[in-house]
Amino acid sequence: MTKLFSMLALASLSWASGHPFVAWEQYEKQVRDQTLPKDSLKARFPAVYGALQANHFGPNPASIDSPWVFPLAGYSITSVGKGGFKPGIYYGGSSIKGYDFFDGNLHGGHPAYDIFIRDDNRDGRDDRDGKRVNVLAPTSLIVLSRQDSWKPGSQLRGGKYLWALAPQYQLLLYFAHLDSVISSPGDTLRASQVLGTVGRTGKNAQAKRSPTHLHLMVLRVENQIPVPFDYFRLLPR
Ligand SMILES: [Zn+2]
Repeated sequence: MTKLFSMLALASLSWASGHPFVAWEQYEKQVRDQTLPKDSLKARFPAVYGALQANHFGPNPASIDSPWVFPLAGYSITSVGKGGFKPGIYYGGSSIKGYDFFDGNLHGGHPAYDIFIRDDNRDGRDDRDGKRVNVLAPTSLIVLSRQDSWKPGSQLRGGKYLWALAPQYQLLLYFAHLDSVISSPGDTLRASQVLGTVGRTGKNAQAKRSPTHLHLMVLRVENQIPVPFDYFRLLPR
């Protein structure tokens, strides 16, 4: 009995430490915080991503042709910041020009769209009804990792955020500045399921000057490197 129990305990321990989601979460935070040299982080990406792929991908990704669900409940394409997708620029006080996933929290560029809610008083709530705005899965997703704690004054640019995988397209999605993260690593979400709420968390997003928005970045894995993907044409009109 004791032996069986310890075997079970060992089995669940190795599941926890060896599971691809756990490995991804550790890795994504090492990249974010630059706790290892950039080259070694870059060298590890194929293994970490490959383990996710082995669990969930078929051999061939689907072609990206079907439209997405709009990622903010009660909003539409007119709330998307014009010209938001600029991977090549200086941005956000970073001294680095252009986006590179492996620069983590120091990254340059703005390879994303900001989607704004109606919030003139900057309280993080929709001015129309005083409620939080739900963030929806734009397509079928598997939740990979999240940051669900954040304090004002933190240097973390994303604030509370969530990483997810769209296995059918080999896309990584990053939802940032959330007020709350509602889903957990390993969750499978259908398009239009709620994954969190819009907030004002993050080094710059918390500032009064910043209009309340969702920062949604999508990366496509090409040649074992995650590169910015312009998803604007997939948003419903
Ligand atoms: Zn942004």
